[in-house]
Amino acid sequence: MKKATFKTELCKGCGLCVTACPKHIVELDTKSINAKGYHPASCTDDDKCIACGMCAIICPDVVITVIKEDKDK
Ligand code: SF4
Ligand code: SF4
Repeated sequence: MKKATFKTELCKGCGLCVTACPKHIVELDTKSINAKGYHPASCTDDDKCIACGMCAIICPDVVITVIKEDKDK
């Protein structure tokens, strides 16, 4: 299940989320360019994501939504 979802078209490639992620799994995708002309950030390994929310908190443009898996289910 995807935990960190990025609205790539809103990303301005500032890289704050890249430095904020404690698991070092957020990267700017240098192979693609979004509508704003930036390399958008994305999570490179969903399995390693701990849904801490740091990337979403630090993003100034509210690009990222983090879903915590419900462990009670
Ligand atoms: S929720 Fe935490 S572990 Fe997952 S991508 Fe964001 S900063 Fe990294
Ligand atoms: S912090 Fe937000 S705007 Fe900046 S690179 Fe990450 S997702 Fe894009």
